[in-house]
Amino acid sequence: MSRPKTRMIALYGKGGIGKSTVSSNLSAVFAKQGLKVLHVGCDPKHDSTLTLLEGAPVKTVIQKITGQIRSAEDIVMPGVLGMSCIECGGPEPGVGCGGRGVSRMFEVLDDLQLIEQGDFDIAVFDVLGDVVCGGFAAPLRQGRAELVYIVVSESVMALFAANNIARAMKRFASNGIALGGLIVNQVDETTPLEGMRKFAQALGTRIIGVIPRDPMVRRAEVLKRPVVELAPDSEVAQVFRDLAQAVLGDSAAAHDVPTPFDEAGFDAFIERTFGGE
Ligand code: ADP
Ligand code: MG
Repeated sequence: MSRPKTRMIALYGKGGIGKSTVSSNLSAVFAKQGLKVLHVGCDPKHDSTLTLLEGAPVKTVIQKITGQIRSAEDIVMPGVLGMSCIECGGPEPGVGCGGRGVSRMFEVLDDLQLIEQGDFDIAVFDVLGDVVCGGFAAPLRQGRAELVYIVVSESVMALFAANNIARAMKRFASNGIALGGLIVNQVDETTPLEGMRKFAQALGTRIIGVIPRDPMVRRAEVLKRPVVELAPDSEVAQVFRDLAQAVLGDSAAAHDVPTPFDEAGFDAFIERTFGGE
């Protein structure tokens, strides 16, 4: 009997918005549920797996020269709860291209047939979305991620990055890639979600989860453990479990092509929606 295809999801968003926090906790919840998980950090910062490796040193794909990668073990690091982890890495500051690590990683995945032979139930890609260049857009290409979730907060720059990601997704829509929703990572709980709902609606999508600000997240980061493991009874851990459930129940076919703003339209929307008292 052939096993179902690996489900591929990608989380995009501006740097520092909380992609790694959300994606690593989602991966931990999936693994805890018994799924076989591949977690891939696609950010030159190479810290997506910080809380998943139990403090083991990170080896990145970009650190390896071509001939050195002969098998999956050369790039895959064993993580908590039996998951497999990859960090693309990036160039030294001042040289090379940031997205090159991501393009290189997909070449290696294809060469090694890692997804096809890895027996994974789900692959989670944590992707920097400030610049949607060829490298960072690689997960949106044919046969890669099927569902994308964009992590946002109520800051204009985060929404600007989200709109750009949606523009790239519109371009790649014929690849079958779908925008599954926005994940709001709240910087400030006192800000009403109304503006975010309007933003989601304008993009032709929805809000699939709202993550509260919780000091436990930073504590987990310092102790290098997923929050869902360190504090399973916390409110934020329950939010991650609910989000994981929503993602597992999602399907690319359920979504229409996103309808992002052009630049002038984005500015006008921000002013109209957030410019009041
Ligand atoms: P990204 O991967 O998008 O660059 P991170 O997930 O590394 O962002 O988050 C950036 C910082 O914000 C980290 O120090 C993280 O611990 C903190 N952080 C993210 N989300 C929350 C939250 N919901 N509550 C508290 N701290 C958070
Ligand atoms: Mg990150």
